Amino acid sequence: MIEDRREQLRNKLEANREETVSEIGRMKAMLKHELDADPEEGDPDLYEREKTLALLRNLEEKLYDLSRALTMMEDGTYGLCDICGKEILAERLEALPYTAYCVACKALVERGVVMGPTQELAR
Ligand SMILES: [Zn+2]
Repeated sequence: MIEDRREQLRNKLEANREETVSEIGRMKAMLKHELDADPEEGDPDLYEREKTLALLRNLEEKLYDLSRALTMMEDGTYGLCDICGKEILAERLEALPYTAYCVACKALVERGVVMGPTQELAR
């Protein structure tokens, strides 16, 4: 990978990570606020709460992927598929800089054929 290109991607990843961290903080504050809500205001909206929790979970997975991508940049393995070890297409990295898989492996992970590291972490 060209050095300039890598630097741009690293900046993108770092900005994205900061955004994700503050977004997670905001969501957690929101959840806490809901818990602290005055019971007189009525029942907490469980549906909304579940939605927020699902979003929070997605963000935490994303944060994990982002941190991981940045670590891989440090040790020079960035851009290689985590499962098959082949190079991930540059266009794919442009669109999704924190992806750990090539298109083919991602499809397998999504179908549950292969267990990705994010799922391993979540267990
Ligand atoms: Zn792959």
